[in-house]
Amino acid sequence: MKIKPFCFLLASLSLAPSCFATVPAAAPAAKVAAVYAQDVRMQKLSAEFLRDLWQTQPDFAIYAGKFETAGRQIVYDQAELARQVAFNQRWLRRLQQIDPAQLSPGMQSDLQILQKQLQSDLWDIQTLREHEWNPSFYNFGSSFDQILNTEYAPREQRLRSLYQRLLRVPAYYAAARANINNPSREHTELAIAQSSGVAEVLRAANKAAQAAALSATEKAQFARHTAAALQAQEEYVAWLRSLLARKQAERSFRIGKDLYEAKFAHRIQSGFSGAESYQRAQQAKEQMLTRMDGLADQIWGKYMGDMPKPAARNEKIGKLIAKMSENHVRAEDFVSEVRKQLPQLQKWLLDKDLLGQDASKPLEVRETPAYQRGVTVASIEAPGPFRAQDRTYYNVSPLTDMSPQQAESSLREYNHWILQILNIHEAIPGHYTQLVYANRSPSLIKTLFGNGSMIEGWAVYGELMMMESGYGDNSPEMWLMYSKWNLRAICNTILDYQVHVLGQSREEALKLLTEDAFQSEAEAQGKWRRVQLTSVQLASYFSGFSAIHALREELKQKMGPTFNLKQFHEKFLSYGSAPVPMIRSMMLAELNTTGHGHMQHHGHHGGKQAEHKHKHGKAAAGEDKTKAVDAKDAHQH
Ligand code: ZN
Ligand code: ZN
Repeated sequence: MKIKPFCFLLASLSLAPSCFATVPAAAPAAKVAAVYAQDVRMQKLSAEFLRDLWQTQPDFAIYAGKFETAGRQIVYDQAELARQVAFNQRWLRRLQQIDPAQLSPGMQSDLQILQKQLQSDLWDIQTLREHEWNPSFYNFGSSFDQILNTEYAPREQRLRSLYQRLLRVPAYYAAARANINNPSREHTELAIAQSSGVAEVLRAANKAAQAAALSATEKAQFARHTAAALQAQEEYVAWLRSLLARKQAERSFRIGKDLYEAKFAHRIQSGFSGAESYQRAQQAKEQMLTRMDGLADQIWGKYMGDMPKPAARNEKIGKLIAKMSENHVRAEDFVSEVRKQLPQLQKWLLDKDLLGQDASKPLEVRETPAYQRGVTVASIEAPGPFRAQDRTYYNVSPLTDMSPQQAESSLREYNHWILQILNIHEAIPGHYTQLVYANRSPSLIKTLFGNGSMIEGWAVYGELMMMESGYGDNSPEMWLMYSKWNLRAICNTILDYQVHVLGQSREEALKLLTEDAFQSEAEAQGKWRRVQLTSVQLASYFSGFSAIHALREELKQKMGPTFNLKQFHEKFLSYGSAPVPMIRSMMLAELNTTGHGHMQHHGHHGGKQAEHKHKHGKAAAGEDKTKAVDAKDAHQH
């Protein structure tokens, strides 16, 4: 896949936020095999595809936890780009030989996901052409960092892999300079800003090499080639600065209507266009504000006393939310409060019969490791496919190392109510729960190429699920804060489309976020930065959420009294991180075959859990990871 050399480690989890399960080696039961004649063939082809992928895309392999090709540094010169095009085309042709009608539903969706991924990657190279206008595309920092700091092999072996890569760094930057032509100023500045981090990784590798059990010759070579790599990198950065100075970095960061719609179709896969999704988001925003207006009227006096109520709707809501935000935990209690809430959320799901839980997959709340701090307040870090450790971490940044003003601002944002919604989104029943379910699906394909819109959509839907079941005493306060949070997802879509397609100015964008979505100045600034550097990803939340909600309502209608909410949730999640329309057709097909409205347990992975070793990759989720922002598909809110 065309790789995102930079995206995975820092921002990410995006592609594979779900944990992986290995493709089961055992053949399906004979009966199934007879009905789905091409399942075995598809499995074999998938496995072959992945082997080919690890060879062609060592950075993607590392991200997935496969390190066999870690020593190979890809240089994105014309020959390499042509190889990548050929790789995608070759696999598209090979997959065409499979007849989807002879596949089980799970395999059918694997096939489709793979085909769409290949098409999307091909489109990236041939049409989007980020390698020409996004200088931050060229960043090997996270791959180097992973090789250096992941203990997949003895340290000396890892260092020798890094050494092999070091040799290619000058060529890497030479290819970058040959490819880049009139980049955007914003992406050029991002590349410059990230360069010190890359240099730091290079120096850290050399330091480790000098301290390791390598021969004197090896150490000297390592030092020499580190110096050469650093010099190549410095020259690249100097060249980028000269582009800025000579006004040769003038391309608009806005991708425009045609690219936006095409990218939306490739990435989101909702069946709607970007423009349709934008229209819907605008309607949803108005509905949300109307509801918030009524809620604000209900509780204005309780919080604001005699203060006169502003006539203007948004001013009234904004003032009330600002006042309510004073209700928050102390900085020193932030992490422990998160820890305390998770069992309560779990219990709520059980008591309300919303979703089964898997007690064997514990979630451990911990303080975000120091080297990852400063990027997000909270993130889910799930084990990736090929590294065997089962624990999923919920990283929460201790606010105690922030300045008092920063901490206060974060605490107000993650106030008494929003903190609960954050936990719902990130953990239960949001990302963590979805990952546990996705893990049970034995599809490595869905794990590696999961649909970001489904994943984010589920987390956003999880918030609604909790609210509808009366969470938070069904209080107007909880609903008001929920609405503010949901408005953020809605406005992400609006912002993304208005900025990239309609040319919205910075000033108008900030106005939208602060005045219509009640975001703090700092939050709004961070979002503006993110929308300049990414496109379409911000639209994934609302799109996935709307699709899941619509599917639930559709099934309610179709099934009448036999509809069961818990069954719907479990069934929906059982297909893994597939695009929602794909899950919809599988659910509808099953509904039709079972006859009377009952959905049976998804067949193709029943009883197999015990056989999978869960391995992990990292999945991060969290708002405003602008520091390590990934110009492709970071998994963020
Ligand atoms: Zn305070
Ligand atoms: Zn999320």
